Amino acid sequence: MPRGLAAEATALDDGDVLRAVRKEFALDDGTVYLDGNSLGALPRTVAGRLAEVVGDEWGRLRIRSWTESGWWEAPERVGDRVGRLVGAAPGQIVVGDSTSVNVFKAVVAAVRLAGPGRDEVLVDAATFPTDGYVAASAARMTGCRIREADARDIPGEAGPRTAVALVNHVDYRSGRLHDLAGTTAAVHAAGARVVWDLCHSAGALPVALDAHGVDLAVGCTYKYLNGGPGAPAYLYVRRDLQPRFDSPLPGWNSHTDPFAMDSAYAPADGAARGRVGTPEILSLLALDAALDVWDDVALTAVRTKSLALTDFFLRCVEAYAPEGRVESITPAAHAERGSQVSLRCADGAAGVMAELIRRGVVGDFRRPDVLRFGFTPLYTGFAEALRAARVLGEVLAG
Ligand SMILES: *Cc1c(COP(=O)(O)O)cnc(C)c1O
Repeated sequence: MPRGLAAEATALDDGDVLRAVRKEFALDDGTVYLDGNSLGALPRTVAGRLAEVVGDEWGRLRIRSWTESGWWEAPERVGDRVGRLVGAAPGQIVVGDSTSVNVFKAVVAAVRLAGPGRDEVLVDAATFPTDGYVAASAARMTGCRIREADARDIPGEAGPRTAVALVNHVDYRSGRLHDLAGTTAAVHAAGARVVWDLCHSAGALPVALDAHGVDLAVGCTYKYLNGGPGAPAYLYVRRDLQPRFDSPLPGWNSHTDPFAMDSAYAPADGAARGRVGTPEILSLLALDAALDVWDDVALTAVRTKSLALTDFFLRCVEAYAPEGRVESITPAAHAERGSQVSLRCADGAAGVMAELIRRGVVGDFRRPDVLRFGFTPLYTGFAEALRAARVLGEVLAG
């Protein structure tokens, strides 16, 4: 059995159309890195570009760079680059702030778009906590009540009082992929808006925001998009909603004429309306450089490889893990799987992950009993999936 899996890993790596992309990442320390769903690996172009930004644009040109180096427009320019990866035509995404802050803008703006009698904010009950905390505060501020529902039930739960549903496209804990097209259509049929959180899907699988008529979306850029620690997040506001997008954080950067320094607020047109304050230029331009690795990559190829990797890893775990020690909580059905595998390990999960990391297989642990393995198709190979499962088997047996 193991010999067969090794031959299969080699064949799968040989047939991998994305194989060349891995060379663009700094991954030379011999570890198997399966935590790119928490912090993407470093693309090699970033360090040189950042040195240039610091030395030349900041160091030499200083204030002139806001215009001469294109800093001022960077949030929308980089937003368009993210847009290509999430199915958004140019002019609908702005990069800046954290995901948490963008959840706040999106949920409050969605409530402000809602018709009369709509005072309910529906949230994915298993949401990444920050989305839930922020949605609860947004609901309190806007006179709404919050109601939790399993993300799979949101299509049936949205009703005449729902203003907005906030849903995670892929569940961060289980790796379950939710139905963006069907849920969006059902929420719309109920007369409500939907905000999608794409943190665990952007860069991991094709996302088609425009095609499915999504209202608003947010996501981070430091997971599958490899933007670096604390890289700015993004906000998508569908073009036809932009004129009515009423930001709860109308900072001066979202003013139609910021340098008029007008005491009266007048919102900018387009994606810039989602801006707040001065953009985080260094991390924004690190992200810009990091996005170069996507230039010749098709998201369909990413998805094909991602599913092959997670399928193969699950088979390897079955082959190597001692009977009954771990159980996958990631859906087996491809239509319901993101790009990670989560294994429940009832006995000593924290210690198991610590030992895996010590042996050079880096995943992460989510309390109380989940081992998470993120599969980032741009730089993870099949031999690594095999090695991770083999080491997991050794740790569990030991
Ligand atoms: C990673 C993640 C976040 C992180 O939010 P920050 O504000 O960037 O810390 C939020 N939501 C989801 C669903 C995530 O996976």
